[in-house]
Amino acid sequence: MRILLIEDEKELLLDLSRGLHLKGYAVDQAETGPAGYQMAIDEEYDLVVLDLNLPEMSGLEVLSRLKQEKPALPVLILSANHQLETKLSGFELGASDYLTKPFHFEELDARIRVLLNRKFIQQTHLLQHGRISLDTFRRAAAVDGNPLPLTAKELAILEYFLLHEERLISQQEIVEHVWNGDSDPFSNSIRVHLSALRKKLKAALGYDPIRTKIGEGYIFS
Ligand code: CA
Repeated sequence: MRILLIEDEKELLLDLSRGLHLKGYAVDQAETGPAGYQMAIDEEYDLVVLDLNLPEMSGLEVLSRLKQEKPALPVLILSANHQLETKLSGFELGASDYLTKPFHFEELDARIRVLLNRKFIQQTHLLQHGRISLDTFRRAAAVDGNPLPLTAKELAILEYFLLHEERLISQQEIVEHVWNGDSDPFSNSIRVHLSALRKKLKAALGYDPIRTKIGEGYIFS
């Protein structure tokens, strides 16, 4: 899952970015309203975390413009402004959630999970496919109920496959949703993570559930 953070407090931005990265998300950062808006339009994000008091363009303005272009993109407002009027404006403009600063990182993480699960119309935080299960809250995978030790990246790739079973997924799509904008989509690192994941799945299942369609992408079944 790929998240865009739009926040001008550098220290908070870095802390959030680090924290979410450890939770297995691909995270990109923007420090001004216009930069954040442009990135959200140009790139494929699963969720945007948006500050309101931003330089050059206010968060509410970013939200309003963004919602005209991408109405389905979930936006979570993270702001020190706890006035009811501001919160209501945020929701009216299409925000999915509003968390006031100061906040606990674990609460932000939980709210992000809820929004992402809602986005994919998940009824539960447990993704299951045959013998494989993935707990999106605990960030843990299992085969036949036995823990399958995966790195954060491998887990993120598996999560994306489980949310899109039986569908052809290109390498580019995996890059867009699992990696952040700094990654080179043609680097070997994607293949390395994917191949490590496939090896682990094959060892646990006795077969590789990911099929390669040469020149097109991958199908999980
Ligand atoms: Ca701010």
